[in-house]
Amino acid sequence: MKNLNLFDEHVSPTPEERVKELKALIHRYDEAYYVYDDPIVTDADYDQVMRELQALERQYPDLLTIDSPTQRVGGTPLSAFSSVSHRVPMLSLSNAFEYADVVSFNRRVVEGLQEEGYLPLHEEVEYDCSLKFDGLAVNLRYENGVLVQASTRGDGQVGEDVTANIRTIRSIPLRLKATRFPRVLEVRGEVLMSHAEFQKLNAKQLAMGQKPFANPRNAAAGSLRQLDSKITAKRSLSFYTYGWGEIQGFDDPLPLTQSAMIEWFHEMGLPVAQERKTGKGVDTLTAFFEHIERIRDELPFDIDGVVYKVNKIEYQQRLGFISKSPRFAIAHKFPAQEVSTTLLDIDIQVGRTGALTPVARLEPVNVGGVTVTNATLHNEDEIRRKDIRIGDKVVVRRAGDVIPEVVRPLTVWRETLETRPFVMVSVCPECQSAIERLPGEAVWRCTGGLFCPAQRKQSIIHAVSRKALDIDGLGEKVVIQMVDKGLIKNLADIFYLSKLDLARLDHFGQKSIDNLMNAIEKSKHVKLENLIFALGIRHVGESTARDLARTFGSLEKLMAATIEDLLKVNDIGQVVATSIVHFFAEAHNQAVIQQLIKAGLNPQENQVTADSGSLKLEQLSFVITGTLPSYSRDEAADLIREHGGQVMSAVSSKTDYLLAGEKAGSKLEKAEKLGVKIISEADLLSMIQPNAE
Ligand code: NAD
Repeated sequence: MKNLNLFDEHVSPTPEERVKELKALIHRYDEAYYVYDDPIVTDADYDQVMRELQALERQYPDLLTIDSPTQRVGGTPLSAFSSVSHRVPMLSLSNAFEYADVVSFNRRVVEGLQEEGYLPLHEEVEYDCSLKFDGLAVNLRYENGVLVQASTRGDGQVGEDVTANIRTIRSIPLRLKATRFPRVLEVRGEVLMSHAEFQKLNAKQLAMGQKPFANPRNAAAGSLRQLDSKITAKRSLSFYTYGWGEIQGFDDPLPLTQSAMIEWFHEMGLPVAQERKTGKGVDTLTAFFEHIERIRDELPFDIDGVVYKVNKIEYQQRLGFISKSPRFAIAHKFPAQEVSTTLLDIDIQVGRTGALTPVARLEPVNVGGVTVTNATLHNEDEIRRKDIRIGDKVVVRRAGDVIPEVVRPLTVWRETLETRPFVMVSVCPECQSAIERLPGEAVWRCTGGLFCPAQRKQSIIHAVSRKALDIDGLGEKVVIQMVDKGLIKNLADIFYLSKLDLARLDHFGQKSIDNLMNAIEKSKHVKLENLIFALGIRHVGESTARDLARTFGSLEKLMAATIEDLLKVNDIGQVVATSIVHFFAEAHNQAVIQQLIKAGLNPQENQVTADSGSLKLEQLSFVITGTLPSYSRDEAADLIREHGGQVMSAVSSKTDYLLAGEKAGSKLEKAEKLGVKIISEADLLSMIQPNAE
């Protein structure tokens, strides 16, 4: 984003003008962020403007004034609270964005200490590594071990008195857990809101018709800076300690290192984060950074990086401060998970179950190291609720493996942009079938079923995917081509493709053809649970598919199951049962399954029934012949399978038992010849239930 000028389209021609403009912008951003807890730009945008201003001030030192935002911390405290002057200023932190920044930070520290004769040559500095909590800084003042005052950072010199609100945070001790403590001890740390609490709060805000908070940091700040502490008490906030302010009246020696300080706080009952490390040299720092980046998504709260501090307090004091941050510490920031970009258009994507999902087409943007061009907008209601318009500048978020999403519009940009509201399609954009939205559902669906080419493609893509039929070499693009070229219409068609058909695909030489033919052949040995999952029955995920396979043992039996039969299966309720019955009642689904069976896909699985208890026939193979006294041969086969046994059609040396009834023929002879044990129906029943007559 080049032009950040909200007021005018042109970029300022002179450095003076640009500096003035940047200051005005930052002032506006700060006010929204610090005063109203409602940011109008992303942190990444803010940091970019700040860096531009810093660079200009470095290049033209005459333009640097003491009131520049580069020299100041935070925002002006709200006058609604009484103000608190900090005895020891509450500062910010310098930032490192790249490895090179960390290297030069370490060099500055080492050189600084060596110049003063503090650090012997060739000795590395020890650092304390901690999380960079993304909340708001507060100062807790304990006198004689009792919490007497709590204040926000404010502008670093003067903060807001939030004592009553801080007292509602359960993890903050009102009295320190120690027998000896300083007469005055100021503890500094960050107030946070967990992800879970943030989701809950925003859901509540929406239900009450109020504006949701932009992110957990703003929600934590908004919750702490409430005039009514009853409201704060309802928002479960957390606190983590990271440093100290004023200390007076203590005869005992104070901790000598940052890590010992945090341990000391921990012993006194103050909350500290577990994720900490001490070590020497840049490699330790970057290893910690990488480790935390990997586990970041598992943490219950937001962090925006890690912090490295020189561990020895004496060294910290020697190094001191530059304008608004310590020289002995640096925040190593993660690439931003939230960035802004332009919403160029909204397309409708049709999924395999016909769900119509609005997808944002974005001006390409780098989010957390990955270029993002599309992001989900979830559904029509969500777009309306968030008031997202085409042409808006929007915040895009990508965290972990989650699909990128459009979080909110940055409405302030509408002053300079042309935007238009999104209008939902009235028919399926792929097949023009009618669309419907069932009561209670947020999603519109195409009613075209497998007539809709998009649903067809998506359902086949799903069916051949790794957790389903797992056909190697049959990726998304190949499936789309096959459907577009009319080679396949449904899943079963894949098994009737000839080499000649495959030769019609782009970039398919002899080798790819042979490989794909082999992969298709191999997939015929699919397990029943994977085949059921591959069918793409609505509401039937991997684990339901597994339960169905174990309960019914074959496709035929599953297809014959009634709603009552299905309701007996683990975790299957009315909705899932109905969906399964409807699926198998559809003539085209039946036809596809018949084609699959004909092609050789008819896996059987050992059934586990509620009353079978154990699998008494596991590992045993049976062949059935003749007429049995009470069971048909099929019924007997089911019984054997239900108890874990296998039923084969021909007798071989590997057969364990021949179940023989009246008029048994050649199979009986063969079994006798091979020495296979011959049993009666009564024998079988007693193997299953020892007490049976
Ligand atoms: P900062 O939040 O980047 O870092 C300093 C703060 O980190 C400290 O004051 C402290 O509260 C906190 N911190 C967390 N963990 C810590 C630890 N282990 N040890 C020490 N301190 C720790 O800087 P800042 O000056 O508070 O705020 C500037 C940042 O705020 C900007 O870089 C931007 O990301 C954001 N901001 C955004 C907007 C916006 O409009 N989006 C506006 C203003 C500021």
